[in-house]
Amino acid sequence: MLYLSTRGQAPPQSFADMLLAGLAPDGGLYLPQAWPRFTAAEMAGFGSQAYAEAARVIIGRLAGDSFSNEDLAADIAAAYAGFDDPRIAPLTEIGPNLYLLELFHGPTLAFKDVALQVLGRLFERALKKRGGRATMLAATSGDTGSAAIAALGGLDNVEVFVLHPHGRVSEVQRRQMTTAPFDNVHNVALEGSFDDAQAIVKALFAETEFARAVNLTAVNSINFARIAAQSVYYFTAAAQLGAPPVFVVPTGNFGDVFAGEAAMRMGLGVEKLVVATNANDIMARVLNDGVYASGRAQPTLSPSMDIQVASNFERALFEASCRNVAWLRQAMARFAASKSLKLPDGVRTALRARYAARRCDDEQTLAAIARVHAETGRLIDPHTAVGVAAAYNLNEHQKVPVVVLSTAHPAKFPDAVRRATGQIPAPPPRLRVALQAPEKMIVLSADKGLVRGLIEATVPRPWT
Ligand SMILES: *Cc1c(COP(=O)(O)O)cnc(C)c1O
Repeated sequence: MLYLSTRGQAPPQSFADMLLAGLAPDGGLYLPQAWPRFTAAEMAGFGSQAYAEAARVIIGRLAGDSFSNEDLAADIAAAYAGFDDPRIAPLTEIGPNLYLLELFHGPTLAFKDVALQVLGRLFERALKKRGGRATMLAATSGDTGSAAIAALGGLDNVEVFVLHPHGRVSEVQRRQMTTAPFDNVHNVALEGSFDDAQAIVKALFAETEFARAVNLTAVNSINFARIAAQSVYYFTAAAQLGAPPVFVVPTGNFGDVFAGEAAMRMGLGVEKLVVATNANDIMARVLNDGVYASGRAQPTLSPSMDIQVASNFERALFEASCRNVAWLRQAMARFAASKSLKLPDGVRTALRARYAARRCDDEQTLAAIARVHAETGRLIDPHTAVGVAAAYNLNEHQKVPVVVLSTAHPAKFPDAVRRATGQIPAPPPRLRVALQAPEKMIVLSADKGLVRGLIEATVPRPWT
């Protein structure tokens, strides 16, 4: 099982090497050279097996011979042992044929844990085998940071740098990062948007000498191992429902919804993947109008989706163009230069066969939180609510099950929940430490050189 770059100018890598590298050296994103396919019988089994067992089979197929079955089974079992629901990703009904897929039962209360708890363990194992150290650099719109810290904090061969947009993440999100009691964790509040942070990360990866010297790596959703782990819950949810569902996915960087495309390419029957966005609707516009054009990120009640440039969309374009790397290289260069890209008809048609898109503003988000509360007594978080609003907007007489990915626990975003319902969600015990412990972070202006300087001053020498 080999992984190649969407830009076609990097040598194919094993799963373990791809996991340690994150981004491909030609600036592209890794994808399997050929998608493995699961049989109908295998997929039916994923509904009744323990979640960790389904994950071992699916991730194992994608990992090829990078890890033994025993090691994978041990790491996945350990990853999910810390979840507060033994089903890991339970489905609950909130209306006729309308379900939430609860992905917030991990240590930092957002879906990022589902992949990062596995990734952290595989990463440590692969790094030990290769020897040396690594420098993990991540940009976060709020939830990746704490999930990466929960996965990699305390390891002695990894230094962890997390850039978040200063003042643009919720207080709970910030505290979950800045109260981490680990010497190898360095939080940077960047004076800019998430897109500025992500651009700095990409630019530092492009400084190949520096990147090689400190062994720079990423566990953002540009790391395919995350997509691999996230594809699992599409399989387990569909198997429990017994009919190909519509999945509605609250979307920012397009990683989670692309995991749905990955599941489809591995054989899963899915009626449609609905991309649900907040007012930062670049993905809704490109899918509906065929023009991929980014503007300024605008703060909303669902901050983890306040993203204009959706990195993982490149993966969908790669597949939709039938892996036309020459076109994709050109298209990405054009987009980088002009912030706009018109999709050729063929690519657009291929995307629309698989994806639909809905946009929802803050008012609709609050209304969805209120409606779910009124109809079921449940509190949902504002990201989940963007998905639920999109689901309410679909044809109300859907004949097929509609599954909304519930990406965060409401206690992470108490202000929005209180505004919509008057209720304050009770913080689970694991959140209480973060709400009380002292914070540690560095504020920097959004300047690549400053971030690089911080890394150079922090990572122990010699760099090898
Ligand atoms: C990260 C995140 C999203 C967006 O996921 P992408 O993979 O970036 O599209 C949605 N909701 C929450 C709560 C998140 O943390």
